[in-house]
Amino acid sequence: MRFLADAQRKYRLAFDKLACRNASSVWDWIRPLTPAEAWNSGIWRSLDGELRRFFRSPRIREAFGSYAMYLGGSPYRLPGLFSILAYGELAQGLWLPRGGIHALARAIESLAAGLGVRILTGHRVRRILVADSAVTGAELEDGRLFESPVIVSNVDAPSTERRLLGRTGGAARAVRMTPSVMTLYWGMRRKPAGASHHTIFLPRDARRNYDSLIGRGRIPEELPFYMSIATETDPSLAPEGHSAIFLLVPLPLLSDLESWNMDELAGHLKSRILERLARHGIALERENLLVERTLSPADWAERFGLHDGSAFGAAHTLFQMGPFRFPNRDPAVRGLYYAGASTTPGTGLPMVALGGEMTAERILHDLP
Ligand SMILES: Cc1cc2nc3c(=O)[nH]c(=O)nc-3n(C[C@H](O)[C@H](O)[C@H](O)COP(=O)(O)OP(=O)(O)OC[C@H]3O[C@@H](n4cnc5c(N)ncnc54)[C@H](O)[C@@H]3O)c2cc1C
Repeated sequence: MRFLADAQRKYRLAFDKLACRNASSVWDWIRPLTPAEAWNSGIWRSLDGELRRFFRSPRIREAFGSYAMYLGGSPYRLPGLFSILAYGELAQGLWLPRGGIHALARAIESLAAGLGVRILTGHRVRRILVADSAVTGAELEDGRLFESPVIVSNVDAPSTERRLLGRTGGAARAVRMTPSVMTLYWGMRRKPAGASHHTIFLPRDARRNYDSLIGRGRIPEELPFYMSIATETDPSLAPEGHSAIFLLVPLPLLSDLESWNMDELAGHLKSRILERLARHGIALERENLLVERTLSPADWAERFGLHDGSAFGAAHTLFQMGPFRFPNRDPAVRGLYYAGASTTPGTGLPMVALGGEMTAERILHDLP
């Protein structure tokens, strides 16, 4: 209870005073905090250090520390303020939109359509057009041009710089990225015995594994991974009696996986996952796997524009938070704005949605 009360205070502090404001400087960012709030915010120590204040059991610390992976981070590096992740989930619960997460995208699409927004899907932007240090529009892959004095790019900000603005070397901002992922989507006959909707499989030696993955860019010896079987809660997401299984395996960034062929890596991970599931008594017979799809780090980079295949965008280190983070307004090109995981306030659907509002505020403020 002491932990929850403390995390609740941090949660309020983060959302009321820190995360949802466009701060113009470090001073402007921390100005609303009292000295006591700044001291107790937990940003001065790691999440693991913060958890040590409340829990003696290393297993409980590892369980709460694993929330760091929601931000693609390590509990030994992520600031202690992020005990708010565990708090958010424990206090507010987990929600599954009826129809799955795609139903949320559809609902937003229909709200936007109601406001007169035209959405073009399946059209890639080749480059953002700039003249005299101001944005003039965007060019699509098919050569079509769109003119506009304002562009908001939610293609991952470091990818926007490199791919759409052609910035190279020192012209592109140096950003420390979160790790990549391999995601596996399995359609299975029957329900896998012994499994539930959400399961996170942790390694025995957490510190060593996070250090491999995040510190050294290596595939950990004992893979941590997340398994979701949404059909356990909403059976309508698959044909009757079948299961829809999603697996997320954190991996090093694409640039650290150069020696791997992605198909071989997928096969290797699948075997290790099945072994681990069997060890926990979860029966997933290969012959019952009817549909299999995989998205590798290379797919995440190519299909979705994620810089170096990084799943969660820019890392949430102290020096990539608030005014230190990739800004949502380009400092060199007038009219160019960013939204999404790598800019402020940060990664994950809730933060990205709040970030969209912050970018909109910025634009309204800048408009003549
Ligand atoms: C496997 C995985 C699981 C996750 N799970 C969760 C979770 O459970 N909860 C949570 O809150 N967050 C989760 N996240 C994080 C969350 O999805 C991201 O933080 C969020 O989607 C980032 O939003 P964004 O707008 O920055 O980018 P995206 O959602 O990646 O949107 C960018 C869009 O731009 C498109 N695009 C790329 N290049 C171009 C181009 N040249 N032209 C036109 N369009 C382009 C992409 O196709 C994509 O649709 C997960 C992320 C991953 C990768």
